[in-house]
Amino acid sequence: MVTPSPNDDETIRRTNSLRTQNNTLQIFLTDYNLTRNSIWNVTDIHNLVQRFPKLSMVDLRMITLGVYQLKRARSYAEEHADSIDLTDPNLEFPIQSCNDTNAHDIIRIRFQSAHKKSSQYYTYIQFDPNQILAWYCTCRSGPRVVGCCSHVAAGIWFLGYERHQLETNQQPSSTNFANLHYCDSISDYEDSSDEDNDARYSSTR
Ligand SMILES: [Zn+2]
Repeated sequence: MVTPSPNDDETIRRTNSLRTQNNTLQIFLTDYNLTRNSIWNVTDIHNLVQRFPKLSMVDLRMITLGVYQLKRARSYAEEHADSIDLTDPNLEFPIQSCNDTNAHDIIRIRFQSAHKKSSQYYTYIQFDPNQILAWYCTCRSGPRVVGCCSHVAAGIWFLGYERHQLETNQQPSSTNFANLHYCDSISDYEDSSDEDNDARYSSTR
């Protein structure tokens, strides 16, 4: 028997308030009509007008607000790169840039759905050379501005962090590597993702 608590109303009110906070990047993309496929083209990370920032694990945790999404980042990145060897110097991690000058500081990543192979999600990341400014994804959790979905986490983790670990020593960092092994082991039997677990994730916060 679950007994209602006076705190329940406040929890629900706070959760709803966070959920309905505006995603400024989503609004920007809509206002400038920047979600059209015709203006986005696959590019190399080194060919961006603006350099993608190099991030620390602390930076990443500030964005994801915890380790949950970071633990999943490797498996999402591996799937996107179609390789389990993210140390491969020839690894391809497809990203897109926009030919509209309003979006020169935004990249887009097209993620395949982990559940429905026919579905895909578009992840947008806005940045300057020093930091991540905003994010938006078309998956169910994608508009969240408190924390982020696993697609956003995977993109930011690989491009801003893991890619640089490879450049410096050709090996993932030892601390992160331990986390990611754990991630691999839970992902085998935990088949939920941002596509269907938003309510469960939010309710635990
Ligand atoms: Zn997403």
